[in-house]
Amino acid sequence: MTVADSPQGPRMRIDDRDRLTFCSNDYLGLSADPRLAEAMCGAATRYGVGAGAAHLINGHFTPHQRLEEELAEWLGVATARLFSTGYMANLGVVGSLVGRGDTVIADRLNHASLIDAVQLSGARLSRYRHNDLDELEARLSRAKGERLILTDGVFSMDGDAAPLAELVELAERFDAWLVVDEAHAFGVLGEAGRGSFEAAGLVPGERVLRVGTLGKAFGTAGAFVAGAAEPLEVLLQRARTYLFTTAQPPAVAEASRAALAIVRSEGWRRERLQSLVAAFREAASVLDGVELMPSATPIQPLVVGEASRAVAMAHRLADRGLLVPAIRPPTVPRGSSRLRVTFSAAHEDDDLSQLLSGLRECTTIR
Ligand SMILES: *Cc1c(COP(=O)(O)O)cnc(C)c1O
Repeated sequence: MTVADSPQGPRMRIDDRDRLTFCSNDYLGLSADPRLAEAMCGAATRYGVGAGAAHLINGHFTPHQRLEEELAEWLGVATARLFSTGYMANLGVVGSLVGRGDTVIADRLNHASLIDAVQLSGARLSRYRHNDLDELEARLSRAKGERLILTDGVFSMDGDAAPLAELVELAERFDAWLVVDEAHAFGVLGEAGRGSFEAAGLVPGERVLRVGTLGKAFGTAGAFVAGAAEPLEVLLQRARTYLFTTAQPPAVAEASRAALAIVRSEGWRRERLQSLVAAFREAASVLDGVELMPSATPIQPLVVGEASRAVAMAHRLADRGLLVPAIRPPTVPRGSSRLRVTFSAAHEDDDLSQLLSGLRECTTIR
């Protein structure tokens, strides 16, 4: 286990060494923003630290309530409901919509929490090849009971996006729920950061539920489910990961409110990410022996082939103080081991130059 002893960010002190990191989900560089810390400290002084109870008992505080209202307003939906983590939000949303006798049709590359969510719900899991709409349609037409299409908006190991327009069309045609995990999309995609639907120019309908995490682009902790009033009311009654757990500290919710205000007002952070990604892709496209994946997001995996090569390259980068994780089977398919580079709006041009020169040097490893 490595131990960090500095704020999250591009330059960190880890295990008593200075590191330049390309591995966090802090896409907008907000986790160490003093405005968030100030909001959190102020709320901790006012409300104390622990929520002390579940939301439905007496653990739901003014900052939780305001944050839910502001998230709903921002996304143009009736309701947003807070959860303590994205993992728990996914278990809650799937389990409240489907159960035994129902079918969840899910992308094979979905996040682990979505797979676990289906297993816990008792519904049948029917998995289609990544973004394969023909297979999804075939599985939808055979599905029994209530149908739910489950997908990441942006896939965490590949960085590519789900074909949302087609998923929306299929969900409507088969009268299915569509649940989209926007962990890597909210705050990042779309001009205003409203995620995959905004980026695709789509307005989600009544049977779409979106899950957002606050521990990534928002730089805080927790998560939320956003959608129409009716399914969110059912969620409130049924989601066991909502009902039977302590509410997140109100001070964390207050920090998330500060983060949301910045997500809304500082569009330059998304522009900065885009220009970093564009510059990286241009330079990485001419590197020997590695392959870029078709990603337009801050998740920029470089496929290097065998697991041993990915590990050797990551070690070589680490020798230079560069932190880029090697991702291997079973997380990704055999032969597609990769260096998973992620960018933050807080990366400077010189950080990118250092990464590229490290990559140029380590691609000589065969
Ligand atoms: C990180 C992540 C989650 C879990 O969110 P936490 O708030 O960290 O529990 C869920 N889904 C996806 C796609 C993620 O990347």
